[in-house]
Amino acid sequence: MKQILIAEDERTVREVVRKYLEREGFSVLEAADGLQAIELLQHPIDLMVLDVMLPGVDGLAIMRHIRQKNTHPNHRVPVIMLTARTEEEDRITGFEVGVDDYVTKPFSPRELVMRVRAVLRRFNAETEVDHNAPLIFKDLRIEPQNHAVYRSEQPITLTAKEFELLLFMARSPRQVFTRAQLLNQIWGYEFYGDESTVTVHMHRLRDKIEPDPANPTYIHTVWGVGYKFEVN
Ligand code: CA
Repeated sequence: MKQILIAEDERTVREVVRKYLEREGFSVLEAADGLQAIELLQHPIDLMVLDVMLPGVDGLAIMRHIRQKNTHPNHRVPVIMLTARTEEEDRITGFEVGVDDYVTKPFSPRELVMRVRAVLRRFNAETEVDHNAPLIFKDLRIEPQNHAVYRSEQPITLTAKEFELLLFMARSPRQVFTRAQLLNQIWGYEFYGDESTVTVHMHRLRDKIEPDPANPTYIHTVWGVGYKFEVN
């Protein structure tokens, strides 16, 4: 769940924004003044909505505080600044100190939520990992772009489903998946097979990729739950 920090001294504005963001599935932290905002910025935050006029430390000072230190845990956090119509100068300074977007007061909460989504989308697109990059685990190399798998540089021939299954699990190492989750993920909700389909494919996949299928290095059974990808 994405965590949003709203730093705003007007309680009613804070509460309306929180309500709208929570309804959209965000988790919200509230700061009523600048010092509280700085304190909460020590936590993992995905985006900050920052009022420029705050008691204590104002919005621009907070921006300088987080952006100028590469060591700050949130030095890259995307920020939407709230300003009043008359604060045009703040808007210009704001861009200079690394604000990503503005919303002018009074604003509609819906518009703010839209801006939050847009900024998060832009930010995630910039920082997104390359989905074509090979995944390397010990002797195993998975190449998503050409659907190829190698163990100790030897190519392994997998069926399309076996490959999808391996890639899906390898992208979330240590996460345990139930057979039902894997069935839905790889075969889709429209597939009328049962969970033994997963068991059968997993068995074949292990025979191909594991040096010793009876004592797996990569894919492990979590008894009573399902499977996980974890390199031993
Ligand atoms: Ca204010």
